[in-house]
Amino acid sequence: MSDDMDRAQEREAEMRGDALREVKLVPTLKPCGLCYNCGEPITSGEFCDADCRDDYERLQKRLAQPFAGG
Ligand SMILES: [Zn+2]
Repeated sequence: MSDDMDRAQEREAEMRGDALREVKLVPTLKPCGLCYNCGEPITSGEFCDADCRDDYERLQKRLAQPFAGG
């Protein structure tokens, strides 16, 4: 029982940490007419699709913690 509680709290802290990192890492990108991930011309938003957004966020995270986990 208490094990589950510990794990839940741990995971919550982890998630909160991720969220904080994300906010810091990906500060409000401004739409610039190009996809931030692949550079494709786009008419709105910051990425041409969700895949590019995910790629970009993953890359930012990896760059931010180069020694984490390999
Ligand atoms: Zn793209």
